Amino acid sequence: MRISEIFHSLQGEGILAGVPSVFVRTSGCNLRCWYCDTPYTSWAPEGVEMSVAAVAEAVLRHRTRHVVVTGGEPLLAPDLPELLARLADAGRHITVETAATVFRPIHCDLASLSPKLSNSAPRHREGGRFLAMHEAARWRPDVIREFLKHHECQIKFVVDAPSDMEEIDGMLAELPPIPADRILLMPQGVTREELASRSVWLATLCLDRGWRFCPRLHIDLYGHTRGT
Ligand code: SF4
Repeated sequence: MRISEIFHSLQGEGILAGVPSVFVRTSGCNLRCWYCDTPYTSWAPEGVEMSVAAVAEAVLRHRTRHVVVTGGEPLLAPDLPELLARLADAGRHITVETAATVFRPIHCDLASLSPKLSNSAPRHREGGRFLAMHEAARWRPDVIREFLKHHECQIKFVVDAPSDMEEIDGMLAELPPIPADRILLMPQGVTREELASRSVWLATLCLDRGWRFCPRLHIDLYGHTRGT
């Protein structure tokens, strides 16, 4: 599998924020969000081919119980089920972070679903050459239903402006009911300043709906840097 990075850090987002975790970041994505914070896995994918055994060894070298498999889009990695099975056999708690455009049977303890809104569309980047592909792929309620059926889930929306709420309500209306504390709104941004500029009104919207506000702890702690 093509791996961009493996590192030990605190989980920065979601219901397990703050939990020490080993991260496995696969390279390659079927979307091209204009704001992608890991363009080295999407717009210009980098990485090295590693066997499942080598990835598992690199992860299990750490004694940390929690493992986060992220991307890019990890569900695209052909060897993902085998890797997750090995990590589960070793007693690890596994979170898989996905844009939820592809479903395959996998083992995970928490599926972190982050379906992308229309605010992610790459209209201006690289002359808009990925726009049609991105728009055709980004919203797959059928895929999300499969995840909800088979896994413990959280669903996280990246919010750019208050006007995004109407679209989020429309998306949730296409899905089975999701517990309010498993619906997360995260400000769009890769700097502390960008996040701060969207956090106050977003916190108010979370309070209104009873949904969870999703900080980006790793940005607060380390800034936008690889390996964190
Ligand atoms: S789905 Fe994630 S990895 Fe893929 S382009 Fe969007 S933000 Fe980047």
